[in-house]
Amino acid sequence: MNKEILIRYDRCTGCRSCELACAVAHSASKTLFGALSEKKPPRKRIFVHQVGSKKVPLNCRHCAEAPCIDACIAGAMHRTAEGVVTNEDGEQPCTGCWMCVMVCPYGVIRSELAEKIALKCDRNCLDGSGTPACVRACPTGALVYGAVDSFAADRRQEFLSKALL
Ligand code: SF4
Ligand code: SF4
Repeated sequence: MNKEILIRYDRCTGCRSCELACAVAHSASKTLFGALSEKKPPRKRIFVHQVGSKKVPLNCRHCAEAPCIDACIAGAMHRTAEGVVTNEDGEQPCTGCWMCVMVCPYGVIRSELAEKIALKCDRNCLDGSGTPACVRACPTGALVYGAVDSFAADRRQEFLSKALL
């Protein structure tokens, strides 16, 4: 996975469009209207929090050394060939022991209590261009899907423009 979902914290307005799009992308119908009437309500895997006066989106970083993979006693949490950390479609099923929930430093793994499995960002929401649903839905560009070095280069350019011009 050479692209990451990176966050421009200064651009988040807290509209929660990303949360909604994530939930819809993980619904059976994949539509907002259909999702509202589904028996099992779809669950979001990105979280927008209020911290002081700021709105802060939090999502899985798909850590290079992922504590959730190390902690998964069942062997369900794994990394795909694309670099996505997930407990879905692996060799072993998730047993809902919540070890991954306990060790994730960002708190971005939640429970699906009805099925007793852990839920997390699985990137099963990409469109034809390979862009995640949350990124597509963000109206302000607070979520950026791209290479880390390219993101950093943009930030340097912005800083230099403000500092020197
Ligand atoms: S779920 Fe948490 S610990 Fe696991 S890869 Fe994502 S951010 Fe890292
Ligand atoms: S969609 Fe964008 S602006 Fe709205 S809450 Fe999510 S990150 Fe913030």
